Amino acid sequence: MSALSELNQEIALCQLCEIAKYRNKVVPGEGAEEADIMFVGEAPGWHEDQQGRPFVGPAGQFLDQLIASIGLSRKQVYIANVIKCRPQGNRDPLPSEILNCRPWLERQIELIRPKMIVTLGRYSMAMFFPNKSISKIHGTAQKRDNIIYYAMYHPAAALHQPSLRRAIEEDMLRIPSLLAEVAGVTEAEEQPKQLNMFEV
Ligand code: URA
Repeated sequence: MSALSELNQEIALCQLCEIAKYRNKVVPGEGAEEADIMFVGEAPGWHEDQQGRPFVGPAGQFLDQLIASIGLSRKQVYIANVIKCRPQGNRDPLPSEILNCRPWLERQIELIRPKMIVTLGRYSMAMFFPNKSISKIHGTAQKRDNIIYYAMYHPAAALHQPSLRRAIEEDMLRIPSLLAEVAGVTEAEEQPKQLNMFEV
């Protein structure tokens, strides 16, 4: 069994938060263990809690379309959430839940070692871009410790606010060129290229 599968089994036993008592299934994450791109959403909803898989409801269908728009499938990326259990009634995650769950996400990132982490929505953005506003920084990237952090609106936002759909689609389409820029830098270490990233 891979280290990531072992970690995800460990996550399934976690009882640190009250919401663990009410979960139907824990939702650790899924996808390629050596994915270049890791998407980090907020928390499982009803569908995810039923299936134990991330982003399988309506927002997930849109995320699948977005991933397909850059020529990939969900099997080629990794999809996880800031918290791994469903908050009852789909309420927002509590600060204590985010704190308790954070080490799980950090360990997943250490094992997957993605080139890029795409934050989906405010809670995920807040973890990697503290004190920023999603409306200002969506579609912008920052490189730290060899990982590109890229902020996007949550796909569910497009379902509630159709005007955001275009922005989300356009932000997704920037991902391949950001990754390609980084690949270019790695190959030509002696003459590093200027990264066309917007430092936030
Ligand atoms: N919304 C999220 O943030 N994550 C999921 O897994 C599903 C919906």
